[in-house]
Amino acid sequence: MHIFKNVNDIRLFLNQKTEQIGFVPTMGALHEGHASLLKASLSHSDITVCSIFVNPTQFNDSSDFDKYPITTNTDIEFLEKLGVDILFLPTVAEIYPDGVDKFPAFDFKTLNHSMEGAFRKGHFEGMVQVVDRLLQIVKPDHLYMGQKDLQQFNIVSELIIQKKYPIELRVGLIKRETSGLAMSSRNQLLSKESKENAAVIFKSLSWAKEQVEHISIDKITKQATQFIFDAGGKVEYFTFVDGTTLLPVDNLKNATIAYIGVAAYFNNVRLIDNIPVKGIHIAEGATFFVPNKAKENYVSTNI
Ligand code: AMP
Repeated sequence: MHIFKNVNDIRLFLNQKTEQIGFVPTMGALHEGHASLLKASLSHSDITVCSIFVNPTQFNDSSDFDKYPITTNTDIEFLEKLGVDILFLPTVAEIYPDGVDKFPAFDFKTLNHSMEGAFRKGHFEGMVQVVDRLLQIVKPDHLYMGQKDLQQFNIVSELIIQKKYPIELRVGLIKRETSGLAMSSRNQLLSKESKENAAVIFKSLSWAKEQVEHISIDKITKQATQFIFDAGGKVEYFTFVDGTTLLPVDNLKNATIAYIGVAAYFNNVRLIDNIPVKGIHIAEGATFFVPNKAKENYVSTNI
């Protein structure tokens, strides 16, 4: 595996390549969720680039940034075992040569109004800033991101459209523990007991999805929040959203796509998860889907 720490070196290397590049941006502390995106890239793109960069500008809470796990050496071994071609491991100065205060022009529309956008002020501004910079450095043909970060992938999809980047966004399905808990770098911070308890998040989402035909969204939300509370969690939001605008909905009649998104604290660790409840049909055996294929200016390739 080639490891590049600065922009010039990775650009010099990639400039010589004509093959299709698949890119998986991460913040490290790699787990099987990241591996599923990397495997999708290894199977469906010619060259796989992974980046590890804990982006300071997307952390609204400095203690969250301070305790974010950094496991670079094991991450390198993990990537080598998978057969990843390139690791980009930049410093803050490489990513932000003009300082951290320059943000790309971008219209979030309504995509950052609810869920993470409502509770983590400035998070998506920082995320767009780093993803835009990374896309300009790596210039991938295919970008692999996780459905786990529902709002993130929708915002990045919009970034690609607004910037007219010739990139296809491929969204990897959520990898889960056998308990149903969504894999996350933050799970390392959970005690054994709270990790077991946190499985209630996905149970509640699955229960809520089954109820949509039967009871009101308001009632489902209250009951699901209670389930999580009873298992020792503190719900920040449990929200049904229209999958196109990401605005909260209190019924699904007018939504062509809809999800339920949740954020909850277990053991002071903030966990997020989501489940599609309408309009997303994922083929049997698929590991990723391509959102917004039909959107204007969206350049897509056959998979
Ligand atoms: P992170 O390192 O947390 O920034 O995540 C890097 C990428 O991996 C993002 O696109 C995430 O959505 C994705 N990801 C994180 N957890 C999972 C998971 N459990 N399953 C699939 N993808 C994931």
